[in-house]
Parts: sequence; C-alpha cells; structure tokens
Amino acid sequence: MNPFDSELQERLASLSGQGLRRELRRVDSPQGPHIVLNGQTLLNFSSNDYLGLAGHPALQEAAIAAVKEFGTGAGASRLICGSLKPYHELEETLANFKGTEAALSFSSGYSAALGTIGALMGSGDIIILDKLVHACIVDAARLCGAKLRVFKHNDLSDLEALLRWASDARSNKVDPGRNARPRALVVTESVFSMDGDSAPLRDIVELKSKYDAWLMLDEAHATGLYGAHRRGLAEQHGVQNRIEIQMGTLGKAIGAAGGYICGSRVLIDYLGNRARSFVFSTAPVPAAAAAAAAGVRLIQAAEGEERCRDLWERVAQFRAGRALHASTELSAIIPIPVGPEEKAMAAAEALRRRGLFIPAIRYPTVARGQARLRLTLSAAHRQSEIGQALAALEAVQSQPAIQA
Ligand SMILES: *Cc1c(COP(=O)(O)O)cnc(C)c1O
Repeated sequence: MNPFDSELQERLASLSGQGLRRELRRVDSPQGPHIVLNGQTLLNFSSNDYLGLAGHPALQEAAIAAVKEFGTGAGASRLICGSLKPYHELEETLANFKGTEAALSFSSGYSAALGTIGALMGSGDIIILDKLVHACIVDAARLCGAKLRVFKHNDLSDLEALLRWASDARSNKVDPGRNARPRALVVTESVFSMDGDSAPLRDIVELKSKYDAWLMLDEAHATGLYGAHRRGLAEQHGVQNRIEIQMGTLGKAIGAAGGYICGSRVLIDYLGNRARSFVFSTAPVPAAAAAAAAGVRLIQAAEGEERCRDLWERVAQFRAGRALHASTELSAIIPIPVGPEEKAMAAAEALRRRGLFIPAIRYPTVARGQARLRLTLSAAHRQSEIGQALAALEAVQSQPAIQA
C-alpha cells in the first residue's frame, strides 16, 4: 500500500477500534416498510420517509413525466442556463403549502443551510445554536465566520442569557462594510432529528423578538406531520408568521430529495443572489423537483391527512406497547438509548437477525458514549409490523450482553 493509503488505513483502523467505523449496506429494493439488505428482506424502521411517499406512484409518475419533458440534467446553475419550469412549480407549491410569500429550493437540506446562513451572516455577527442542531447548521455557522455560541438543548434561560450578551455586544457597533448593526441569528430545529423531542417554539419566538434577533427554524422532521395543514411544528404552535427563515428538506416526509427555504419575497430574492450553494451549484435533476412538488401536493390533499393520521396511530400503538409516556409532543422518531457504541452495534445486529432494520446511531451523529438505536415509524407500516418490532425489541433487550 502506498503511504497515502496506509495513513488512511490507520485512521480507519482507529475508527474501528472505537466502534465508530461505518459501512454502506447495499439495498436492492426501493425504500419502504420492507427492504432487501445484503440479500435479506428486513422490516425497515430506519428511514425518514414518514408518510411512505418515497415509493408513491404519484411521485414516480411526476418524476417520469419530468424526465420525458426535461431530460435528466439541469445543465448548469439556474442563474446561468435558465431556470426550468419544475423548480418554479415546486417553489410555488412550497410557498402555498407553507403560507409564505415565496420559497427557494436547493439540491439538499444541507446545502440550503450552508447557503442561507452564509448569505445572511458574516464576521461581526453572532449565531446562537441549540446544542443538538443538525451538523449542516453547525458547519454553516462555522463556515460563515460569525461568532458562534451554543445554548443547552431547549434551555430557555441559557438562550436568554446568550441573547442578552449578544444584544450588549452588538449595541453601539456599526459594521462599516454594511453600515448596519451586527446581527444575531438563533437557529434551532422544531423536532430534533435524533431524539424526536421538540423545541419550545412560542417561548423561543418571544425571546428572539425581545432581543431583536432573527430566527431560522429547521423543520426537517416536522414538515408534513404537524399542524392543521401539516406545515410543521411552527404551524401547530401558531408562530409561523413570526419566523424569518423556515428551512426544511424535501427528502423526508415529502418523499423526494432536495432542500428548501420559505419566507418573504425579499428573503428569497436575496438568497437567489447570495446563497453560494445555490449560485455556484448545478440545479438538481428536474425530476427531483417534480417528485417533490407532487409530494407536497399529496401532503396537502385528503390523502396526506389520512397518511398523517395513520402515522400517529402507529406511533400511539408503539408507545403503548413500550409503556412510553408522552413528554410534550409526539414524534415518529423513537430513540432507544444504549450508551456504549459497541453495545448499540450488537443490539442492531441482533435485531437484523430477527428481521428488523433499526440502525445504531453513534458519534459523531450523537455524543460519544450516547449511542442508541433510532427507530422511525412510517404511515406505511402495518399494525402487525409494529407488533413485530415490539416483540423483537423485547427479545433483544432481555439479552444482557446487548441490552438496549
Ligand atoms: C436530514 C436533515 C437535514 C439535511 O437535509 P438533507 O436534505 O438530507 O440534506 C437538515 N436538518 C436536519 C435536522 C435533518 O435531519
């Protein structure tokens, strides 16, 4: 092996030694309640396809029609070679769904966060993050050069202390480059990706207003699932109109791929000019936009309401079977804490032998020593399949060596 490869080999060995080595597991079937993984058919509790739309015929047909009409490649960035119809239709559909003036789509949620935070914030500004926000938000905040502060997860008094500090730090300062006061931005998730708990949105909105900060809310795990129109947790908490930047992904409940920002017309126009991950990146395949638009329309329709109801029924069934008590908000994400990485891996392996795919989540996705099984429920699961999951978990958890 050459020196380059052998150095990387050593680094991988070190990951293996810590129980942190990851591997791609090949799947030869569509995502759905059953997947064929390394030749074995498994009951799938690993995906964020909460409403079962990733395999839905309406999305497939929309994607196929878009391929036939627009081909497979976008050709360039939308600002360079023109902006194909499916993106505009998607963005109109998203704005209508979210009840905002406008929307902008990106090739992923990750690039939406990167582009948006980088466009809005820079050196001299202050970004305040919940401790458990997604890696894309942390990366974006680090990259943009703003001062970064982190508040304890969902801790309002910690957040307020940081907002007060930021407000003092910002007063009397005028950034000569922009001839404006430095800005403060709070970023949090509505439903947290790894724990399924939710942010106290009303209080957070009050606080950011009180201290004149902006709020960016990542609804990746709430869009399509919460609120009377399934817009997300902000709708459920009645604070949609008080959030400057609403972000999400098209790849979870919406069943396609891509990311979005919803907000005012001027925010969207500004991002179209300044979000580097939008400006300097080839547009996604038009079929992805068409599938996402079909997914959003489906969520808005009676079928979306029905699927959402099915999902919450499955969640209730699962929670009753585990004697879990509701904390605040219900979620389709069920974390089963294990602790040591190796133990979580052994538990996931034991579950696979029983026909269930429930992934072990480890550092750096969660903190070291806080590995867990992360089970996600979908409207596409049948009642009997929830029963199978409950039985398998019970069997595996009774084995002391791999107790979850
Ligand atoms: C998945 C996820 C993202 C990233 O979205 P992608 O479309 O997968 O890039 C961002 N934020 C949160 C909270 C997520 O769970």
